[in-house]
Amino acid sequence: MTFYISNGLGDSIDSPSREQMRAFLAALDPSDEEHGAAWLATADGHALEWNVDGRLVLDTPGDRGVRHLAKVSHDQTIDLWCALARGDLVYVNEQRWQDGNGFVRTPERQAEIERSQLAWDREFYDGLGAERGDAHCRRDACTRGPVTHSVLCRIHHFESIKGRRCPFEH
Ligand SMILES: [Zn+2]
Repeated sequence: MTFYISNGLGDSIDSPSREQMRAFLAALDPSDEEHGAAWLATADGHALEWNVDGRLVLDTPGDRGVRHLAKVSHDQTIDLWCALARGDLVYVNEQRWQDGNGFVRTPERQAEIERSQLAWDREFYDGLGAERGDAHCRRDACTRGPVTHSVLCRIHHFESIKGRRCPFEH
């Protein structure tokens, strides 16, 4: 069966050997939860993704939804990758899968998610450019000027696009 492995950094290998799989997993940065994942995918739509926090997430074609195993080692991941690659779904399915992707939002993770959200927001906000001095934002009683290509100021343009309060004023 056609299969390949990929990681969160965009690397990919077609029909990898066990050694290539091992090297691929070993190359993941354990502290990088955003990109620290590698998965094997097959042409018929199965995917098994290992995350640096030890979760192995199984995605199957159809509406079954994802399932996961926690605390999975590299060796166990490679065994299951190989089973999936050779089409041994019986072996894959007999593992003790639990529903969902198993992602737990710890306070640290929540803070990290909020930090990256804020960075994205800042980039978007700054990308709107300067407000014009020769007109007023269309929003009620707003005294700021509109940005280029909009009738709204940076704050109100942000809010109309993002659908939530703008965290910046300058
Ligand atoms: Zn405004």
